Amino acid sequence: MALILARPELNLWERLYLPSILGGLFITLRHMVETILLRVFPRKRTGPRSLMEMSSTGLMSMQYPEEKWPMPDGYRGAPVLVMDEGGREKCVSCQLCEFICPPRAIRITPGFLPGADVHANVEKKPRAFDIDMLRCIYCGMCEEVCPEEAIFLKKEEPIFVGTSRQAMIRDKQELYRLGGVMVRPIKKWDGK
Ligand code: SF4
Ligand code: SF4
Repeated sequence: MALILARPELNLWERLYLPSILGGLFITLRHMVETILLRVFPRKRTGPRSLMEMSSTGLMSMQYPEEKWPMPDGYRGAPVLVMDEGGREKCVSCQLCEFICPPRAIRITPGFLPGADVHANVEKKPRAFDIDMLRCIYCGMCEEVCPEEAIFLKKEEPIFVGTSRQAMIRDKQELYRLGGVMVRPIKKWDGK
């Protein structure tokens, strides 16, 4: 059923729109004075300003990258690949993480170990492993599902900038560089 609301009657003062216009001009004037004062008396910045301070001065722009928002406690990190202490890739390119990833951010091309490797007919490793950081939602499902403990969410400095979409895709070399070595009890190569 349609709900009909009574249109409020505006008095003469409201119909002139003067209060709104003057209010807007006052805000503009306040920003102008604050900006001039900051130029004349620049403040020495020692770290990120608090939200409270920024709101009180009306300056909501941050001077990135010197100033950054602190990450919330619930931030899990960004996905990276890790090697074992022998420098071997833990990933066996089973593609479970690619399958489970909700936004389809992971793309894996499975590859084989060199024929001379003693494990050549036992395990595989990824030929290509890309994660599109524009798609990743940092959910941690890839870490949860990985049977080899090869992919982890690392609480790195969250600087994800690039000049193109392609630049925001992390390839295998970059993911291993960020992940480094992780010593864990699971060692897929031993005792096989
Ligand atoms: S953290 Fe989530 S969204 Fe990001 S790659 Fe892993 S499964 Fe995909
Ligand atoms: S990271 Fe883990 S789940 Fe993903 S392909 Fe490699 S072994 Fe499988």
